[in-house]
Amino acid sequence: MFDPARPDALCAELAAAPRKLLIDGAFHDAEKGQVLDVIDPATGRKFAEATAGGAADIDAAVMAARRAFDDGRWTGLPPARRQDLLLKLADLIARDAEELALLETMDNGMPFMMARMGGAMGAVGMLRYFAGWATKVSGETITPSWPGEWLGYTRREPVGVVAAITPWNFPLAMEVGKLSAALAAGCTVVLKPAEQTPLSAVKLGELICEAGFPDGVVNIVTGTGAEAGAPLVTHPGIDKISFTGSTVVGQHILRESAGTMKRVTLELGGKSPTFIFADADLGRAIPAAAQGIFGNAGQVCAAGSRLFVHESVFDQVMEGITERAKTLKIGAGLEPGTEMGPLVSAVQRDRVMGYIDAGRNAGVSLLTGGGTLGEGGYFVEPTVLVEPGAHLSVVREEIFGPVLCAMRFGDDDLDALAARGNDTQYGLSSAIWTQDITAAHKLANRLRAGTVRINGSGPPDPALPLGGYKASGFGRENGRAGLEIFTELKTVTVSLN
Ligand code: NAD
Repeated sequence: MFDPARPDALCAELAAAPRKLLIDGAFHDAEKGQVLDVIDPATGRKFAEATAGGAADIDAAVMAARRAFDDGRWTGLPPARRQDLLLKLADLIARDAEELALLETMDNGMPFMMARMGGAMGAVGMLRYFAGWATKVSGETITPSWPGEWLGYTRREPVGVVAAITPWNFPLAMEVGKLSAALAAGCTVVLKPAEQTPLSAVKLGELICEAGFPDGVVNIVTGTGAEAGAPLVTHPGIDKISFTGSTVVGQHILRESAGTMKRVTLELGGKSPTFIFADADLGRAIPAAAQGIFGNAGQVCAAGSRLFVHESVFDQVMEGITERAKTLKIGAGLEPGTEMGPLVSAVQRDRVMGYIDAGRNAGVSLLTGGGTLGEGGYFVEPTVLVEPGAHLSVVREEIFGPVLCAMRFGDDDLDALAARGNDTQYGLSSAIWTQDITAAHKLANRLRAGTVRINGSGPPDPALPLGGYKASGFGRENGRAGLEIFTELKTVTVSLN
């Protein structure tokens, strides 16, 4: 049994476990025999290996998913049976939540409790929610205005074989989010997890087999974007790509997939604004704004990385956030009490430090942070930049690290404030703190963002649609909209004349 206080023995055992590709219901080595090194972000040391799939493995996985879709072994099951299998998988993930969380923490570096609650139990919630949709996929009855008597109706049919390509920041939650909706809709799937964090996906594959999903319905190919992701994007056997990751790779995927006319939905980056008004409940707004940028070390697509604060409370808010930044317990995700872990990789740490240095070189003042921590691991201090110019890269580009840009606003009208919030290529999320409910709703209407949170928020909810405006992508995950992106809409008309 897992003991979070003494995880060493179990970590060693988990690290040594074989990690192969799940193709057509069986585990395989890569055809070319390649492996990925898995690095502990808290130490910078390699601790495990996973199989690195390539084009031949992707082809085998796509063909397996294609057969499983075309012969109806999944689509043809009674919806209630598909629901049962999704619920069974949820139960297995709940049973093994601690092991999955441990893998996630070893791999990504996030605090163990975040991996357990947000990762493993978040995945359970996602599966249970979408299991319910398996029996509720439905169309409409529509009467055409043609002469005579007609019946018209629509059918929501599964879009086909789905390529699910996921990032490293919340590996398991992202993977299961895509799988659960696609499977509920009746699709079969090839999942390509991020190369930095392959461990929980392999364990997920084992649980999928244990749950009793028919062979080939879910195939999992770990590997790099170039070797495994790229052939998936152009493979003619794929009908739809569901991608979460960076805007640059999303744009590339869109171009690459055009030739085979794949359906594509993209959940991309963000540079989300938080607005704190003079009348806000600062006792709640300050910790929420700090958590919004320092949670998971800022490696959150919806991170509140631009903070706009009314000038009358600016100093008080900055004091509160700085205090939080200085007292956060930073350490390895497995250390008890850790509130902020390392960044996922040396590449990401260097990228984040590059932005901080660019801000510093441009003369921006730092209220706190600005450096790395410790040796070996990829730790970056929680950092607050004050009044960076709106043209600077720290304000314009997604940093994906614990770096907050804080700006004042005066008694501007809401149009001017919204324009500052909207002055970004992104449009994923936003947060508003004020007691003035009219101002809050007016600002919400003016923001070009997929989500607006007023006076608080919780973790992602499977029932609430999530996705972006502008360069944050298109399509929505979660909720009914998140199911429908995995369907085609067919219209059927019948003459009753
Ligand atoms: P990334 O774009 O580098 O990689 C994402 C995935 O794409 C990985 O699995 C990678 O292997 C794969 N990939 C890379 N190149 C590819 C190619 N040429 N063809 C096919 N696949 C390829 O992103 P990342 O660095 O892993 O994740 C961070 C980014 O993800 C951030 O920009 C963040 O905002 C975004 N993100 C968005 C959301 C959202 O819901 N909008 C959620 C989480 C993360």
